[in-house]
Amino acid sequence: MAKTRNKTLQCDLAVAGAGPAGLATALLAARAGLPVVHAAPPAHPDHRTFALMAGAVRMLQRIGAWDALLPHSAPLKRLRIIDDTGRLLRAPTVEFDAAEIGLDAFAWNFPAAPLSDILSQLIGDEGNITTIQAAASTCEPGADGCRLDLDDGTVVEAGVVAAADGRKSLCRDAAGISVRTWNYPQVAIVTTIAHSRDHMDTSTEFHRTTGPFTLVPLPGKLSSIVMAETAARAREIVELADADFAALIEQRSHRLLGRVSVAGPRGTFPLGGLLPEAFARNRIALIGESGHVVPPIGAQGLNLGLRDAAMLVECLEQYADAATALSAYDRRRRGDVVSRSVAIDVLNRSLLSDLVPAQALRALGLFALSRIEPLRRRVMSEGVAPSDTYLPAIMRPDPHEDADLSLAV
Ligand SMILES: Cc1cc2nc3c(=O)[nH]c(=O)nc-3n(C[C@H](O)[C@H](O)[C@H](O)COP(=O)(O)OP(=O)(O)OC[C@H]3O[C@@H](n4cnc5c(N)ncnc54)[C@H](O)[C@@H]3O)c2cc1C
Repeated sequence: MAKTRNKTLQCDLAVAGAGPAGLATALLAARAGLPVVHAAPPAHPDHRTFALMAGAVRMLQRIGAWDALLPHSAPLKRLRIIDDTGRLLRAPTVEFDAAEIGLDAFAWNFPAAPLSDILSQLIGDEGNITTIQAAASTCEPGADGCRLDLDDGTVVEAGVVAAADGRKSLCRDAAGISVRTWNYPQVAIVTTIAHSRDHMDTSTEFHRTTGPFTLVPLPGKLSSIVMAETAARAREIVELADADFAALIEQRSHRLLGRVSVAGPRGTFPLGGLLPEAFARNRIALIGESGHVVPPIGAQGLNLGLRDAAMLVECLEQYADAATALSAYDRRRRGDVVSRSVAIDVLNRSLLSDLVPAQALRALGLFALSRIEPLRRRVMSEGVAPSDTYLPAIMRPDPHEDADLSLAV
């Protein structure tokens, strides 16, 4: 439990931000026995769905969140990439089956809201977390910790701050960590659709000249969609009447899922990228989108964010000295985050590029993936999980518990 002194809360770890990465960090830290203060301003409704891979799902099982999430989830047993660029140099359709690498599914897809609700409920049951529904207005790192001033007047003195306060992170700025940011000429439109045909637990990514258009299974005959478009076209599309929107989805998906109707609100997300020069400094660790932003290709963003959360807690448990823990965290997160950000950036730019050599390389890469089995298996395995160096222990398989994971499908 955080200690109170003259209206000041003292704790080992302060978590700023109540997005999914912040919620997971607060819960994992409290479960590890650290007194936590969570600066958790109410989050905006999020109409996205998240496809989380086996490591993240395993962690959700182990913290007792998965049973409640399972009814909202659909397994992604197969992934299909279809070149819909209409260009002269087109790649063959590539299909990956999770069974090829001994998995029940590549990932499980569910809406953002139940994940947030379930983690919040578990946090509410946790004696070790003091939740304040307020944002950090200032963050001051010192030699032995950090002071956070929250906008409701609360002062928090913490040994370490987990900056899970999103891509415009105030805490990251306070740590003195600069970032490289870039924009893509794309806006992603997200919503949920109902369809007449079964999705067969298959996620299909159409590669178009404006970026990917992805159908991701949800339970029953429902799927979430992510459609990357130019900003001007995205503005037009989100304003379409439901019937016209559904007709557009049918046309874009080549009626793969039969008749389509709109089954959820639409949201838009301008796409960009962000990489920091360091993942921790001055007693502040970057968690989730404060430390990396990637376009929604290959469902990597929150999977990375949850690995951040688990790895920070693992480092804090492993090293009594906070500075040593944070330099271990910085080292262990760098390879995973940078390698995935670069791979996603290259793939996205190769779709947008008008340059024939870039298109040829992309087509050749997908052709190789469709034909060379060891390469396919390598890419599939690396896509769902990094090597053990980057995978926190709570996400690693255990032969006994994995029986539970296969029951989940
Ligand atoms: C279209 C789309 C589809 C995606 N699909 C997937 C997917 O299938 N799988 C996947 O793994 N990832 C996916 N992602 C990525 C994923 O959505 C993000 O990685 C994830 O939502 C980021 O969570 P977060 O907690 O880091 O940040 P956020 O959700 O942005 O949370 C940050 C929180 O910090 C709070 N905050 C801000 N300032 C302060 C402050 N000063 N003090 C305290 N709190 C503050 C905000 O209110 C907010 O609630 C997708 C992304 C997009 C755009």
